[in-house]
Amino acid sequence: MRTQIVAGNWKMNKSFQEAEELMGALAEKLEHKELKCELVVCPPALYLEMASDYADESIFCVGAQNVSDHDHGAFTGEISAEMLDSVDVDFCIVGHSERRKYFKEDNYLLANKVNRLLDHNMIPVYCCGELLEEREKKIHFEIVEQQIKEGLFHLSEDEFSNIVIAYEPVWAIGTGLTATPDQAQEMHAFIRQLLAKKYGDEAAENCTILYGGSCNASNATELFSQKDVDGGLIGGASLKVDDFIKIAESF
Ligand code: PEP
Repeated sequence: MRTQIVAGNWKMNKSFQEAEELMGALAEKLEHKELKCELVVCPPALYLEMASDYADESIFCVGAQNVSDHDHGAFTGEISAEMLDSVDVDFCIVGHSERRKYFKEDNYLLANKVNRLLDHNMIPVYCCGELLEEREKKIHFEIVEQQIKEGLFHLSEDEFSNIVIAYEPVWAIGTGLTATPDQAQEMHAFIRQLLAKKYGDEAAENCTILYGGSCNASNATELFSQKDVDGGLIGGASLKVDDFIKIAESF
């Protein structure tokens, strides 16, 4: 049985005090709860250590939103995988569409980020997904295939067993336009088939594939009930504790 995951991407939101309130409230409301999924909180890097302290006393795990593709050295402003590991980060988002768009991150650079994280035993949450124009031109499968092949298919079977994939159609992120459950299932099944061709049926079956893009407390149950949808990467709704927990309870 694959691990089901709900991960909250806070993006560049919340002051230190607000972040502490949000994490405190989350930890408090999760007390005595048992979830069927792993819950991951991905705050801004500045708050990762605080998140790890809260996570020590709670059932959630900690994820970063980004990592450098270099090990260490003269890369002003960057944060390495070793640094993330040193504050007990478990997961890291790689290749979010906002990084691809605003920071021009391409699949080959992302492949290096994946490598750095695996070197330090963290789980990359590798994002893929097409633009609206690409779906309209009906090239969305090709685009996702290329993102996955170029970003992940250099990995050995053993390395690949530590990867989580997030399918996030770019037109659905932060727009309120969720993919229909059928659209999500169709792409997730396509991704799983690709993985099976490269790594075999068992590895493909065991790979957690998340859906992201305006997933919320009202639509999560239907999305997560799809055969190949193993949870969600949640942006906006992860900033509201009750909604985030409700999403995590949607399996
Ligand atoms: C995201 O940022 O990965 C995301 C899915 O955002 P939202 O849920 O707000 O669409």
